[in-house]
Amino acid sequence: MTHTEKTAPKPKQTSEPGGEAEIVSFLHGSPSALGPTGWRGEAAAGRALFYALAPGESSFRTVEEVPDYVEKSIPFFITFIGLEFAVSWIQKRKLPGRINDGISSLSLGILSRLPDVLFRSIELISYIYVWNNYRLFELPWDSPWTWYLTLLGVDFAYYCFHRMSHEVNILWAAHQVHHSSEDYNLFTALRQSVLQKYTSWIFNLPMALFIPPSVFAVHLQFNLLYQFWIHTEVITKLGPLEWILNTPSHHRVHHGRNPYCIDKNYGGTLIIWDRIFGTFEAEDAKVVYGLTHPVNSFDPIMLQLRPLAHIWNTFWAAPGFCNKLSVIFKGPGWGPGKPRLGLPEEIPVITGKEVPYNPHVPVYLNCYALVHFAVIVDLYIELLASMTMLSQGTVLVRIGFIILSLASFGLLMENKSKAGILEVIRCLVFIGAYKLGYFRSHFSFLGYAYEVLFSLSAAFWGIQIMKRITSFKDKHN
Ligand SMILES: [Zn+2]
Ligand SMILES: [Zn+2]
Repeated sequence: MTHTEKTAPKPKQTSEPGGEAEIVSFLHGSPSALGPTGWRGEAAAGRALFYALAPGESSFRTVEEVPDYVEKSIPFFITFIGLEFAVSWIQKRKLPGRINDGISSLSLGILSRLPDVLFRSIELISYIYVWNNYRLFELPWDSPWTWYLTLLGVDFAYYCFHRMSHEVNILWAAHQVHHSSEDYNLFTALRQSVLQKYTSWIFNLPMALFIPPSVFAVHLQFNLLYQFWIHTEVITKLGPLEWILNTPSHHRVHHGRNPYCIDKNYGGTLIIWDRIFGTFEAEDAKVVYGLTHPVNSFDPIMLQLRPLAHIWNTFWAAPGFCNKLSVIFKGPGWGPGKPRLGLPEEIPVITGKEVPYNPHVPVYLNCYALVHFAVIVDLYIELLASMTMLSQGTVLVRIGFIILSLASFGLLMENKSKAGILEVIRCLVFIGAYKLGYFRSHFSFLGYAYEVLFSLSAAFWGIQIMKRITSFKDKHN
């Protein structure tokens, strides 16, 4: 055992659904939480992306037995992204997105999952707490009726949460991250907020009064996974399915900043809630994606946290207590004297000639960012795979390095001069931490290649900085 490892805690066995040992085991990925093994298990994860599993094959007595469908779906995410690239190239002779925006979306996705490495899922913990202490009655975990009711319940809770996330400023501050891309592709699906899960959990709690946690844990994952494949432009319309299901066409409208798209199509898996509650809008004029007031940044930390600073400033600037409360709880477009959700005429007009934020970056820098980003994805996957075996110090060092790297890539994609300094520091930190055994590749044969890559990269940025200092001195002599 190296100094970075510790003995994995043995989960206690319990027969009680929602028991503490069961929660620890599920959330920290014990072998029994991996579900069925072999190709059948992998194929099930692929079908989970489309909610295409029958109740009989996705009902479990305890939370401990529920597979980690999201983690098992990672190979399918990669496969479908590859497919989207191929189809987009065949259909339009162009790629479905841009390197800078794609790296930004994936960075935000990784950032959003990092708290799960340190803390237990608040959505499941809160649900199980209510179930254990306040449940009114228990629906049978193995009944197809419970399965279908939970599908509807989780999707309706998602509709309510999603609608509130657009209509309440403090919730929008978290959710807006998902809408900050000006592209629309499968990468956009992975662009998620760090803070959102701390606002969404409360909407699921009514179900904990009667639906077993093991059934909820399955549908929570299915609802999330279903929303991956609808983030694409390569699928146009799906015929009669458009009446019932949330589809790529419906969700394109949700991501639009055209006035006709604002506050429409909140559904997760089903579109029926929007049709019932009057928030449905069919795709019409060409959709222009992103926020009504684009952030124009690829800095993942800024994209995650900037809206909170905006609320803070607006809160203190608003006159009177009622106005201050309105800043937090009314819509993001609200202002004193305006209706709750703001004035529709203040939404910027779309001409169709909007140009996405796209600072010029030399080709070699794009290649550099891609290679180094792939290394971070590798370190992140390795962290997920081995986190129960690592000491807290090692986990914190790895998380810190991943955050530093993602922030640096944001600066690189914006061609900021301080990116070079941050890259030298980052590469030297990697080499030092790697030598001390804090980092490990998911693929052991890459270890030496990483040492060479980071050494050459540190040297490259060192030379760039020296050149800049020399030319600065020459100019001032
Ligand atoms: Zn939304
Ligand atoms: Zn979306």
